[in-house]
Amino acid sequence: MIDTHTHIYGEEFDADRSAVVARALEAGVKTLLLPNIAADSWQPMLDLCAAHPGVCFPMLGLHPTDLPDNPSELLDRMEQALAAPDHPYVAVGEVGIDLYWDDSRAAEQVEALKRQAEWAIRFDLPLVIHSRSAHRLLVDTLLPYADRLPGGIFHCFGGTPEEAEELLARFPRFVLGIGGVLTFKKSTLPETLKTKVPLSRIVLETDAPYLAPTPHRGKRNEPAYLPLVAQKLAEIYGVTVAEVAEVTTTTALSVFPRLSVRA
Ligand SMILES: [Zn+2]
Repeated sequence: MIDTHTHIYGEEFDADRSAVVARALEAGVKTLLLPNIAADSWQPMLDLCAAHPGVCFPMLGLHPTDLPDNPSELLDRMEQALAAPDHPYVAVGEVGIDLYWDDSRAAEQVEALKRQAEWAIRFDLPLVIHSRSAHRLLVDTLLPYADRLPGGIFHCFGGTPEEAEELLARFPRFVLGIGGVLTFKKSTLPETLKTKVPLSRIVLETDAPYLAPTPHRGKRNEPAYLPLVAQKLAEIYGVTVAEVAEVTTTTALSVFPRLSVRA
């Protein structure tokens, strides 16, 4: 299995990070994809990837809630890093729009997203997208790029059936990232997936340290919990956990062509 979205370079894991990676491998989660969020997560993320070659792979991007006052200097540095011919990044991410806590910088978030979407096209990398309380603005912003974007993930998808349908139809090379929310008792996501989303358009993710699946809900999440999400998907689609692992791994490898490992 591939955890396509995990932030285990964060300080929440400082005390036991190598044990967290070991538990993931033990649980059958052989590949961990790390989205960058800010200037100060960049080096810790690279350090973690250097410590676990062939297991941890970095992405590079600026998260919409981590925009500095003037993001252009940081975005310039990221663009230069992606332009290097031997760079290690498997995707541009995570990028997007988040109007949940603060919608005062929506225009700046849109500008940063457009710039990073252009990188995905120019450097032929998948785009890993965060969207919160921003579905319409996100679709309107990305639609002009849809034909040229090589692919990507709508990470932590939690929208309506209509939103799922719209994303899958308008972004045919994109898939939905599904994690712990799927297991929450009152989640409407199982019904949405079952009726609107083929299993072939789903990849697994934890978003650790956030959104731990039941029965760990409310605690720190970690990649070793990913099989709980796969188990729930197996119930929803009426297939075995092994089939969920196989289908989602195949999909993830096609979304991330630079992943040269078998997961
Ligand atoms: Zn994330």
